[in-house]
Amino acid sequence: MAGQGVQLIPSSDEIMQILKRTGAFREGHFVYPNGKHTAHYFQMPLAFRYYDTARVLAVALSRKFRVERDVASQLPKVAIISPSSGGIPVAFGVRDALSAEQIYWAEQESGKRMFRQYINQGEINPCIIVDDIIRSGHAIEETVELVRGLGAPVIGCGAIVRFTSAPDHVDGVPIKSLVEFDEHFFDTAADCVECKAGAPEEHVRF
Ligand SMILES: [Zn+2]
Repeated sequence: MAGQGVQLIPSSDEIMQILKRTGAFREGHFVYPNGKHTAHYFQMPLAFRYYDTARVLAVALSRKFRVERDVASQLPKVAIISPSSGGIPVAFGVRDALSAEQIYWAEQESGKRMFRQYINQGEINPCIIVDDIIRSGHAIEETVELVRGLGAPVIGCGAIVRFTSAPDHVDGVPIKSLVEFDEHFFDTAADCVECKAGAPEEHVRF
């Protein structure tokens, strides 16, 4: 890593090395719960279990926000928001790096994304929404809707990894990421290159 005080953002390759080393990125033959097959699997909490790698990833992502005038001018009166539990360590790391005042995370209840009770209209600062990985973009989109419904403007969005098949903007706000990953999913086993090669398959959860 670059020396302290040098505001460099690690390259995409350097981030991928961290993800591989920590087991957060694996190559092989994977089957998702929706039946799709793929040759890669991201399990981002494995990178965030180590303090040092969690910090490198969160600080790197925070630098993408700090250079934005709309963010820099509003700090520290900013809220860092995670759409789900997977984004919580990212949100805490980014909050710490930016010295942002607030942190919130949404949860899924009966299929609906929501915050805990008693968060009132007008209480949430302008928001930066961060997640560990953006696969489809649905979680970010739902969270934008949620915070706007509570009267908070969204001034930033981002994740450690974004699949290039996901949107790169949400409601006019660009999505920042450290790695843009061109993931290819095969809809069925019949289409899957790894299946054709006879590779043993591993069933994974999101
Ligand atoms: Zn397959």
